[in-house]
Amino acid sequence: METIIKGIGAAPGIAIGPATIYSKQAVRAQIKPIEPGEVEAEIERLRSAIARSEKELQKIIAFAQQKLDPDDTKILEAQIMILADTILLGTIESRIRTELKNAEFVVFDEIGRYKRLMLSAPDEYMHERAHDVDDVMNRIIRNIQDQKLVSKMEGETIVVSEALTPADTVIFSRNKILGYATDTGGVTSHAAILSRSLKIPAVVGLRTVTRIAHQGDSIALDGYSGLLVVNPTEETLQALQRKAQRFKDFEERLTEIVGLAAETLDHRHIELSANIEFEEELEFTHTQGAAGIGLFRTESQLIGRSGFPSEEELYITYRKVVDGIYPHNVIIRLFDVGGDKLAPGSFHESNPFLGWRGIRVLLDRSDLFLTQLRATLRASDRKNLSILIPMVSTVREIRQTKELLEQAKGELRARGEAFDPNIKIGIMVETPAAAVLADQMAAEADFLSIGTNDLIQYMMAVDRDNMAVAPLYQQFNPAVLRTIKMIIDAGHKKNRWVGMCGEMAGDPVATLLLLGMGLDEFSVIPTVLPEIKKIIRTSRFKDAKRVADKVLTMTTEQEAREYLLALIRNQIPEIPLEP
Ligand code: PEP
Ligand code: MG
Repeated sequence: METIIKGIGAAPGIAIGPATIYSKQAVRAQIKPIEPGEVEAEIERLRSAIARSEKELQKIIAFAQQKLDPDDTKILEAQIMILADTILLGTIESRIRTELKNAEFVVFDEIGRYKRLMLSAPDEYMHERAHDVDDVMNRIIRNIQDQKLVSKMEGETIVVSEALTPADTVIFSRNKILGYATDTGGVTSHAAILSRSLKIPAVVGLRTVTRIAHQGDSIALDGYSGLLVVNPTEETLQALQRKAQRFKDFEERLTEIVGLAAETLDHRHIELSANIEFEEELEFTHTQGAAGIGLFRTESQLIGRSGFPSEEELYITYRKVVDGIYPHNVIIRLFDVGGDKLAPGSFHESNPFLGWRGIRVLLDRSDLFLTQLRATLRASDRKNLSILIPMVSTVREIRQTKELLEQAKGELRARGEAFDPNIKIGIMVETPAAAVLADQMAAEADFLSIGTNDLIQYMMAVDRDNMAVAPLYQQFNPAVLRTIKMIIDAGHKKNRWVGMCGEMAGDPVATLLLLGMGLDEFSVIPTVLPEIKKIIRTSRFKDAKRVADKVLTMTTEQEAREYLLALIRNQIPEIPLEP
C-alpha cells in the first residue's frame, strides 16, 4: 500500500527509485563473533580507527584554539585523552582477543560503560561529560565502519535520512543519487541549496520518512510539490512521470530565450545572473543564458578537506571561473563559513546562526582572510571580478575588510603580481542591522546584494533549517517586503546598484514585485534563470511598479502571495507553479 508524506520541496525534479536509509546519529554496533585468526586484523581496524579519530579531533582543536578560551578547548582535549587512554585501549584490545568479538561492539560496550556511569551521577557536569564520551565512542565506531557506510550507496538510489549536512549532500552526490528526502530541514538550508546546485531533486521537512520508509522500498519523490510517496502504486507513478514530462517540456520551450536580454517590454534592463557553488556549474550557467555570476559561494571549496586551501589552489579555481565567464562579471563571495555551513574543523556553538560566521570568522583569522583576498585579487586582472562580504552587521566590518584588501594589494604589488586596483567591493545585506543601516553601508560599499535566505530568518526570528516554524519563514511578510524596499531605496540614494542573491530572487511568484520595487540585479540558481527571464520579458516596469505599490500596502503574507500568484498565472498560464 502506498503512503504519502507531505514535506517541503527543496530542489525541483521528480525522482523514482529504491530508498537507501542513511543514519548518522544511530551508530549501531552489533555483536559479531570473530575467529582467532581474525583477531590481529580486528585490532588493526581498531587502531587505525583510533588514529583517524585522533586526527579528526586534532584538526578541530587546532582551528578552535584560534578562537576559544583555553578552558573551552579542554573539552576537546579531554576527548583526545580518552583516545590516548592506554588502560582503556588495553582493555578493549584484550577483550577482542579473549572474548573473540568484533571491535565496534567492544568499543560500544566498554566505552558505553563509562558513559552509563557518568549518566547515573547526579551531577549535571558529569552528564555533559557523558556526551563527550558518547561523541568519542561514536567517532571511533563510525571510523571502524567507514567502509560499510560508503559501499551501501550502490546503484541508483534515493537517500532517506533524518538530516543531511552540506558535506553529506556533496559527498553522496559522487554516487548515483536520484534524490534526497529528509525528516528535517528547510528550503533555504545549505544542504537544500546544494542539492539544487547539484540538480538532485529533494524534499525536506518530511518529519517521519525515516520511520515509514525502509531500506530498498520503492520511493517516488516530487521536489516541486514536496510530496513523497513510499511504495507508490502504478497509477501514482504514471501521474508523476506525466508531470515530469510536462515540466520538462516547459523548460525546453524556454531554451528559445537563452540568448535574449533580460529586459521588460518597456525596456528596463535587468542584470540577470547566476548563483553557483562549484566551478563545474559554469557551463550550465552559459547554456541557461546567465549574464554573469552574481554569487559564487566559495565555501564549497572547503568541503571534504582537512586543511585550509593554499592561495595557489584558491587562485586556480577563481581563475577558471573568471576566465570561463569573461567578458561577463563574477561576484566572488568571501568564505561564509559557520552557521549551517562547514568550516574546516569548526567547533560546537549553541546558536551557530548567531555565532562565529562569515566576515566575523574572516576578520578573526586575518591570515586565512589575506590568503583568500590575495587569491581573489590575482584573479581580478581582467577587471571582471567583484568581491562580496557575507554576514555584515557593522560598518566597521566593511572598513576593516577594505583595510585588509589594501594590505593584500600591497603584498601583491611587492611580489609584482597583476590585479585590478579598482576592484569593486559589495556587501550582503542579510542581517537586520545591515538592512536598517543600508544607507550607511551603501556609502562604504560599491553595491548591495540582498541575502533573503538569512535576512528572513533573522527578521522573522525563524531558523531557516527548522521545519517546525517553517510556516513563519515568510518571504512575502510585510515586514520583509518593507525592508527589501527600504534597502533598494537606500542603495539608490547613494547611487549604488542593488541586487538580490537570496532564493527569493529565483521565485517566479516574486519576480514582478521585485522588479517593481526597483531591484537592479537578480542572481538566481541557473535552473530557474530562463523562467525568470521569461517573466521579465513579458512584464512592463510601469505595471510592476504599480503591483509593488499595492503589495506594500498589504498586511498579511497570504494576501500578498495570493495576489502575486494570480498575476503570474494570468501572465504566463503554462508556468509550472506549486502552492
Ligand atoms: C542569503 O543568505 O540569502 C544568501 C544568498 O547566502 P547563503 O544562502 O549562502 O547564506
Ligand atoms: Mg546568507
